[in-house]
Amino acid sequence: MSTSSAQWKQLDVAVMGGGIGGLAAAVAMRRAGHRVTVYERRSFAAEVGASISCAANGTQWLHEWDVDVPAGRPVILEHLTMRDWKTSEPLAIYNLGDYKKKWGNVYNMFHRQDMHAMLLESAMSEEGEGEPVKILVDYICDDVDVEAGIAKFRNGKEVKADIIIGADGIRSNVRTALGIKTERKYAPQTCFRCNVLTSDVKRLGLVDYSYEPAIQYWNGFEQYEDVNKYFKIVMSPCAGGDIVSFYCFMPTEYAEQHTSEGFTFKEVDVDEILVGAYADKLEKNVVDLLKNSIDRMPWRLYVHDEYPYWSKGVTTLLGDAAHPMMPHQSQGACQAIEDAACLGILFSAKYPQYSNDVAAGLRMYERIRKPRATRVQTASRLATDDINERIGFTSLGLPSSFDKKDGWTKLTIPEMNLYNMKEHIEKEVAAESA
Ligand SMILES: Cc1cc2nc3c(=O)[nH]c(=O)nc-3n(C[C@H](O)[C@H](O)[C@H](O)COP(=O)(O)OP(=O)(O)OC[C@H]3O[C@@H](n4cnc5c(N)ncnc54)[C@H](O)[C@@H]3O)c2cc1C
Repeated sequence: MSTSSAQWKQLDVAVMGGGIGGLAAAVAMRRAGHRVTVYERRSFAAEVGASISCAANGTQWLHEWDVDVPAGRPVILEHLTMRDWKTSEPLAIYNLGDYKKKWGNVYNMFHRQDMHAMLLESAMSEEGEGEPVKILVDYICDDVDVEAGIAKFRNGKEVKADIIIGADGIRSNVRTALGIKTERKYAPQTCFRCNVLTSDVKRLGLVDYSYEPAIQYWNGFEQYEDVNKYFKIVMSPCAGGDIVSFYCFMPTEYAEQHTSEGFTFKEVDVDEILVGAYADKLEKNVVDLLKNSIDRMPWRLYVHDEYPYWSKGVTTLLGDAAHPMMPHQSQGACQAIEDAACLGILFSAKYPQYSNDVAAGLRMYERIRKPRATRVQTASRLATDDINERIGFTSLGLPSSFDKKDGWTKLTIPEMNLYNMKEHIEKEVAAESA
């Protein structure tokens, strides 16, 4: 319990960026009783995407915030299956059949557009706890006075808020305003993503690898000398089963032409994907699926180390702006949701001292969130080089080249899903006020 005698105060919260993390923060802060405005640079009509994993550690908060999860048309996962690059034979299966029983929540696979729409509805709805969130589009945040809480936009507008949350993604301007120098490093692997419509799979008589709700992996790790380990496919059903989403990873040398970090919204020809081990070594049925894909876009990856800090004054970061990570733990969205949950708890009536001293609340947010998000960020980097570092597969007892090296221990599903953020916060707050 809080030992503070301060009265809880309603805050004006300005969220820069209306992606998954920004909307999750908006919902969390709305539920905590605050007045929230989201400033987004683009019209949401331009939204595109593929599958987004929402494991139990993310799903838990969607329920806590009373989000209408079925409206996001998730596919509930039952397996993680590793397949042979050349034959598609299953090599290892991690069964998620008892996942909900074990961890209290299911593993949802959303299509990004559906997940976005679902969170947007929770944020803006007249129904539900808290004041509806205001969403303003065509607001590009260029700069922030991080101590005064003033955000400046390219359209000439300026706003002042009690707390500014920088949820403006991987190329964050709020991060620059915080004075954080970023050094992105070349990643040896990059990605294209594309989607195949399930109706096309049926219409064209293609092999349906999504027949069971699983994430399917094809990867070059160790099976063959002529399939480099950076060749990997992650395939998953989403959008209520209407779409099969593919992430096609490859050595960066095959896609150097795409230098812009993150998602680029420019369709590419399938020939850009069918290179290297995709061209003549990948099992034919998978190649046929790729040839019939739509929404083929580059996703250039870079490696980021932990940033020295996330917050200054009344301004902080969240999601990809705070901890950009390689995608190999499928935790990008979940970690952004956890960030949002932490802010919602710290600025709730349970801890009135923080709504009266936002900077102190943000220091506590960073103390709670940074170590865990950084551990996931590191595990995501390691899983680039060794698929056995992927949570889930880490429970199969397969050897990993990193385990116990330099003190590293594998990230596991129990570590992700047994984590109790509320207890963690209580403990840290008690230690602070002791
Ligand atoms: C359009 C899009 C598609 C994506 N598709 C996938 C996918 O298919 N699979 C996957 O795993 N991950 C995808 N991601 C990334 C994934 O959603 C994030 O890694 C994760 O959800 C963390 O969310 P985030 O809110 O931190 O970042 P994001 O979801 O990237 O959101 C950042 C938001 O900030 C906005 N923004 C950026 N700069 C400014 C600015 N200066 N001022 C105001 N607003 C700004 C962006 O337009 C965006 O809406 C996608 C991201 C985007 C933006």
